[in-house]
Amino acid sequence: MRTEVIAIASKDDEELKRAGAVIRAGGLVAFPTETVYGLGGNALDADASRRIYAAKGRPSDNPLIVHISDFSQVFMLAEEVPETAKRLADAFWPGPLTMILKKAELVPETTTGGLDTVALRMPNHPAALGLIEQAGVPIAAPSANRSGRPSPTTAAHVFEDMDGKIPMILDGGEVEIGVESTIVDLTGEVPMVLRPGYISREMLQEVLGVAVELDPAIVVKPVTDEANEAQEKDGEAQPLRPRAPGMRYRHYAPKAPLILVKGPAQAVTAYILKQIEEDKDKPIGVLCSAQTAHAYKDARRVVVAGAFGDLPALAHNLYADLRDFDEVDIDRIYAEDFGIAEDENLKEALENRMMKAAGGHIVTVG
Ligand code: AMP
Ligand code: MG
Repeated sequence: MRTEVIAIASKDDEELKRAGAVIRAGGLVAFPTETVYGLGGNALDADASRRIYAAKGRPSDNPLIVHISDFSQVFMLAEEVPETAKRLADAFWPGPLTMILKKAELVPETTTGGLDTVALRMPNHPAALGLIEQAGVPIAAPSANRSGRPSPTTAAHVFEDMDGKIPMILDGGEVEIGVESTIVDLTGEVPMVLRPGYISREMLQEVLGVAVELDPAIVVKPVTDEANEAQEKDGEAQPLRPRAPGMRYRHYAPKAPLILVKGPAQAVTAYILKQIEEDKDKPIGVLCSAQTAHAYKDARRVVVAGAFGDLPALAHNLYADLRDFDEVDIDRIYAEDFGIAEDENLKEALENRMMKAAGGHIVTVG
C-alpha cells in the first residue's frame, strides 16, 4: 500500500474531504492533534478498529480513544452522561482531556477492547476537528506509533512507523504538547486519573470541587533490577493492575535501555559522568538540559531536551528525543530528571512517561 502524506493548512482544507471519505469507507488516516499524532478509523466500525490494532501491532484488549468534534456526540456514544462530564467538557474541550464513561450499545466492543466503558475526547487541532466533521462519524484513534515505540509528534515519525500500512497521513507540523491526553474515569464514585497528562489533577479538582484520585497502580515506584527482569519476561510486572489497559504495557521506550537519574542537578551530572568514565569503550547516550550538555563530551550521543526545569519543553521534545537515540548504536542512555518534581502542572505526566521510558530503571543520587 502506498502511503500518501498530505499537508493540511486549516480546518477547511479541501483535502480533508478526501481523508473523511477514506474513514467512512473503513480505511485508516493518521492525523495531528495537540497532544501526539493519532491513527484514526471509524469508531463505529469493528473492522476499522481491527485494522488499527493490526497496523499498530497492538494487543486488541488495549482500548482506543474515540475522538469527537461536537459535544452532542457524547450522548450517542455514552449510555450515561454525568454532570461532571459536562462540567469538564465546558472547561477543557476541545483539549487534552479524555473521559471514561459507560458506553452506549452503538460502540462496538472491538473499539473498547471488550470493556463496557468508552474513552471520549475532543481534540484541539483544526486538522483533527476538520477530519472528524468531514468523516461524519466519531474517530477511534490511539497514538500513531507501532506498539511499544515512542508516540509520534511529527508526520515524519508516523511515516517511519506506518509507511506501507495505511493509505494516508495528514501533516499538520509538529504537535504542541507532546505527551498524550490526561485520562479521567468518571464511572466510579470518585473521579480517577488513569493516565496523567497536560491537564493536571489540580486543574480537574478546581472545576469539579471534589478530590480527584490517581490510579494507585501507576504511581511512580522505582523497581529493582530483579523486578525489571521479571517484567521483561512476562510483559507486566506491577502488583496492582492499572485500570487503563494501555498503562500495563511497556511503552514509550527507545531501543537502548534508559536509566533515569534523580537527585540534585550537580550530583546527577557527576553520577552520569562517572558512568561514562567507567565504561569508556561503550557508547553511552545522555538526555539532558541545555545547562549541563557541555559536560558530557565523552558520550556517544547527547540530546538536549530543553532548559533545566522547562517542563513544557521536555514534554514537547521527549518522544522525538527518544527516537533520536534510536538512530545511533548505543549501549544505554542516562536521562537527567530535569527538576520534574518541582513542577506543578506536568509533574505527574512526565514522571509517568519517564518512568515508562526507563522501564522502572531509576537511580537516586546525592
Ligand atoms: P493511546 O491512544 O495510544 O494513548 O492509548 C489509549 C489509552 O486509553 C490506552 O492507555 C487505553 O488503555 C486507554 N483507554 C481507552 N479506553 C479506555 C477505557 N474504556 N477504560 C480505561 N482506559 C481506556
Ligand atoms: Mg499510545
